[in-house]
Amino acid sequence: MAQDFTVTFRGVRGSIPVPGPTTLKIGGNSSCVQVNVLDHTIFLDAGTGIIAAGQQLVRNFFANRDKVKRLAVTVLISHTHHDHIMGLPFFPPLYIGDTSLSIFGPSVYGPVGSKTGLDYVLDMMMDQMFFPIDMKETHSLKKVSTLKPFDQILLAEGEEAELVNLQSDFKSTFKDKAIVSQYRAYNHPKNGTLVYKVQYAGKSIVYATDIEGYVEGDKRLIQFSRGADLLIHDAQYTVEQYTGAVSTQGFGHSTPEMACQVAKEAGVKQLVLYHHDPNHDDAAVAKKEENAKKLFANTIAAYEGLTIPI
Ligand SMILES: [Zn+2]
Ligand SMILES: [Zn+2]
Repeated sequence: MAQDFTVTFRGVRGSIPVPGPTTLKIGGNSSCVQVNVLDHTIFLDAGTGIIAAGQQLVRNFFANRDKVKRLAVTVLISHTHHDHIMGLPFFPPLYIGDTSLSIFGPSVYGPVGSKTGLDYVLDMMMDQMFFPIDMKETHSLKKVSTLKPFDQILLAEGEEAELVNLQSDFKSTFKDKAIVSQYRAYNHPKNGTLVYKVQYAGKSIVYATDIEGYVEGDKRLIQFSRGADLLIHDAQYTVEQYTGAVSTQGFGHSTPEMACQVAKEAGVKQLVLYHHDPNHDDAAVAKKEENAKKLFANTIAAYEGLTIPI
């Protein structure tokens, strides 16, 4: 039963969560986007938005316990900055023995300057220095994979996520499988970030967070996003912040104008402004959206609970 391909925004903030009365409409949780495709639940990043989503998954799982054997979840980490992983230790499925959790993400340069795998970073995050429970003490069945260039992930109905390396980025030719492809962008300090694309049944979405624009547009991202149905793009800063006296240039984030340029040149169908600045209240985000619509009409500013059928 091919479930619809849908995208739901669970956390739309960058840097830090910002709860409170001025962010009620947009939401205050940090980065997390849920993608449902076939019978797979994928999370793009594991910021605090993943916590409530996980609670919901667990509730649904136990309500359907007689029909569903495992709670299968795939998490795709763009990079390991706090705002993109801080929800993982509080993700309820992590603690349930019925969960099979596949986590994919980048290698990073660790504290001693040596390149290290994603598993090390996630273990460290839950080390006793920072957290009361070790990753290894949690009951779920976990598989952590560090992605290399051209690694792709195949998702078939009823099967675990499968890591493959096909040596090229290609349009999906798999009829019954979804495919995730990725590349590492280097326009975010200091380890860069993985940009992901999920393709299924001729449709595609691109997740490009924590990236900064280039003069005349980010050509690599434009090529990667060509014809996508949905582009989720970093739009943290206003032009005023980016070019002001205390400039945010070089911080590794984009303006809505940069996002619109990529959307336009890549010919995507819809653009979502994402990774909102924690200092932007509901009115400021609405203003960003209004301005961006003048440059790329089919633009929406991400808010928690926004669901887009692909
Ligand atoms: Zn971030
Ligand atoms: Zn970051």
